[in-house]
Amino acid sequence: MRRKLVAGNWKMHGSLSRNGELLGQLAAHAGEMACEMLVCPPFPYLAQAQLLLAGSGIGLGAQNLSEHPVGAFTGEVSADMLADFGCRHVLVGHSERRSLFAESDVLVAAKFEAARRAGLVPVLCVGETLAEREAGLTGEVVSRQLLAVLQRTGVAAMRDALVAYEPVWAIGTGRTATPAQAQEVHAAIRSLVAGYDADVAGGLRILYGGSVKPQNALELFGQPDIDGGLIGGAALVAEDFLAICRAA
Ligand code: PEP
Repeated sequence: MRRKLVAGNWKMHGSLSRNGELLGQLAAHAGEMACEMLVCPPFPYLAQAQLLLAGSGIGLGAQNLSEHPVGAFTGEVSADMLADFGCRHVLVGHSERRSLFAESDVLVAAKFEAARRAGLVPVLCVGETLAEREAGLTGEVVSRQLLAVLQRTGVAAMRDALVAYEPVWAIGTGRTATPAQAQEVHAAIRSLVAGYDADVAGGLRILYGGSVKPQNALELFGQPDIDGGLIGGAALVAEDFLAICRAA
């Protein structure tokens, strides 16, 4: 039985005062949730979140990391640094990193490996653009993104990792994949991993992301291969994020 997980990706949003309020509200209700909860604030606020979430049961994650362990890499943040601030998870290969910061499959795989080396749980984000979906390339694109990681790290590394399927056309657009569309890709991801190791595939949690809201969460999370959500916009509003967690 895979326990559902709901993660909030705050992207480049927040301030000390707004975060304090949001984290306080999440922590106050975390005990009511059946799902695992995770928040991923921007780097400068990790220390604040670590402090405010202590004892709440809500996990802390980061949105990105360097593929390098240490050194002269101005502006970068290593996996060990994230672990120092209480992170257990880190997003890898979010579509905004891939498209706006030119992160290739090879780089994403290196970041995935760097996270694992430091004992962090990578959340590998995969997903196709609208043009790719319309060209019938969804399966091919998602497989390519997954295989880049599987071939570098081996399937065993997926035991301590999560995958997030996020169709790019559904991120921040208000356009959600239908539960059936999402389920189809989730099942394909699980079956690809099962081709390497059925046991790992059976335990792998695959999150859906892309305009998840309180109104559509229940139906999405009701699909057999959807094990929770990666939430952007709705993660910034306490009552919406909590409602999504309740739906899980
Ligand atoms: C995301 O950024 O990962 C995301 C899914 O955003 P939104 O929920 O706003 O579509």
